[in-house]
Amino acid sequence: MSTPNPMQGTYQVKDRRGAHLARALRDLDGVVTVEVLLIGSTESHQYGYDIVSHWERVLSADVQPYTPAAAYQSTGPADLVALAQEAVTIYALDPARVQRAAQIVHRRYAIINAHKDEHGITIPRPSLNVLAVESDTRRGWYVVRPGSCTCKDNENGHTCKHRIAAWMHRESIIRRLATARRVSKAQILAELTA
Ligand SMILES: [Zn+2]
Repeated sequence: MSTPNPMQGTYQVKDRRGAHLARALRDLDGVVTVEVLLIGSTESHQYGYDIVSHWERVLSADVQPYTPAAAYQSTGPADLVALAQEAVTIYALDPARVQRAAQIVHRRYAIINAHKDEHGITIPRPSLNVLAVESDTRRGWYVVRPGSCTCKDNENGHTCKHRIAAWMHRESIIRRLATARRVSKAQILAELTA
């Protein structure tokens, strides 16, 4: 069997929702395995859900090219799976940053409407326009607006995990409300950021 590296396209993996990236085929003692980056995938356990954030080795028989028929459900953590996949496949964002962003979004109260801006000035009407995203070490917050963040990674020209997390946070709220009320995303956005 040929060993393309990286494998092109997205793949569905047995017992996992959604589309994922695969990077290599390996033949170990006659067993063909594939390393799969489980984009934003969730694993349930007794305390709730974790966002999977590692490359995982699975049997090649459990990996097939992704088809839209394998659509994920759009409730609960699956929202995050859908947004993480969109970020990687449509917006071509770095999968590692998307993974960390999904973990931030999944963490309770790690993203809030900012009450102060980056200069410490009070924002009179906090909204989704300006978000405060907690740092990984939980020692501080970054001020995130669409297209900007106060962290070093963003300063260095990357689309940082805080911006991706803020986008996921906004989108999941806006999409849920738009679906529930059967109005456009633009209308919800206008109401929430007025
Ligand atoms: Zn940032």
